[in-house]
Amino acid sequence: MTEIRVYDLHAHTFYSDGALAPAELVARAAANGVQVLALTDHDVTDGVPEAQAAAQQAGITLVPGVEISVTWGGQTVHIVGLQIDITHPGLQAGLARLREFRAWRAEEIGRRLAKAGIPGAIEGARARAQRGLVSRTHFAQFLVAAGHAADVRSVFKKFLVHGKPGYVPGEWASLDEAIGWIRAAGGQAVLAHPARYKITATRLKKLLGEFRAAGGAAIEVVSGSHSRDDMFRFAQFAHSFGLLASSGSDFHGPQNYYMDLGPLPPLPDGCIPVWQTWGGNAPVVGGLSEPAPTAMDGGSAENAGASFPPVVG
Ligand code: AMP
Ligand code: MN
Ligand code: MN
Ligand code: MN
Repeated sequence: MTEIRVYDLHAHTFYSDGALAPAELVARAAANGVQVLALTDHDVTDGVPEAQAAAQQAGITLVPGVEISVTWGGQTVHIVGLQIDITHPGLQAGLARLREFRAWRAEEIGRRLAKAGIPGAIEGARARAQRGLVSRTHFAQFLVAAGHAADVRSVFKKFLVHGKPGYVPGEWASLDEAIGWIRAAGGQAVLAHPARYKITATRLKKLLGEFRAAGGAAIEVVSGSHSRDDMFRFAQFAHSFGLLASSGSDFHGPQNYYMDLGPLPPLPDGCIPVWQTWGGNAPVVGGLSEPAPTAMDGGSAENAGASFPPVVG
């Protein structure tokens, strides 16, 4: 008998730029029918123990995870680590380095915004960073509260992206480093929300190839920030690059514009779920040694998958 389980393998708490405490996140996930939840805060794993305790209480499974900031070819991409040992010294040393850069960057964003006529931004962002990790999300929240833009989405466009006053270029981990730390900690590396990167088709293929060559295991095929078309496109990419498929909301909080925890569409037919390698007798692999034959060989991706709720774009 095949047991159908509900997975959400990408979510944030207030240990990074989410709104909820780990116990609140877990309670919401459980209430929404999630049975396997991964906590994947940006560059930090401090919320995992609390989430694990809450998950045990709630009777759901918590997958220890992280979302690592990476600079690849001058742009930022995010690599999720799943099933990581959060006590691994190499992983923690790497994350600590990224948080150091993050702290410096926050001050630099504050200085640049001050020069652009917006004082108090670093204080405003820090006041919103509940556990000390300052994200652009916290600057966005400050800027909206201070009346500089109508909402978080427009504030990014106006202030926080490349070419705008509050933008500071990233010096995050390299792709090899991030995947190396995750694998050293016994985890699997997942390319997060691939449709969200502003990237040409050629460069995207280069990214997928380098990700796979560096030991990346999976890509997020289903994501709260993917459209239905994105989902089918990346199901095809997972297949052709011999990568497993993951599924996660990227939930940040009840007010967030992304999808809520829980109601994600199923992975399209032909995808090999990343969780298929977990538990039981299946070994946890870094990637597939050879692209496995799948249902997609027999049919077009457009016809794959059943009916599902709409995905936000
Ligand atoms: P940081 O890691 O500090 O550079 O912040 C990145 C975070 O900002 C992402 O994880 C999102 O949560 C948020 N973010 C990035 N771009 C946007 C955007 N255009 N609109 C709203 N939130 C965004
Ligand atoms: Mn975020
Ligand atoms: Mn991300
Ligand atoms: Mn995320």
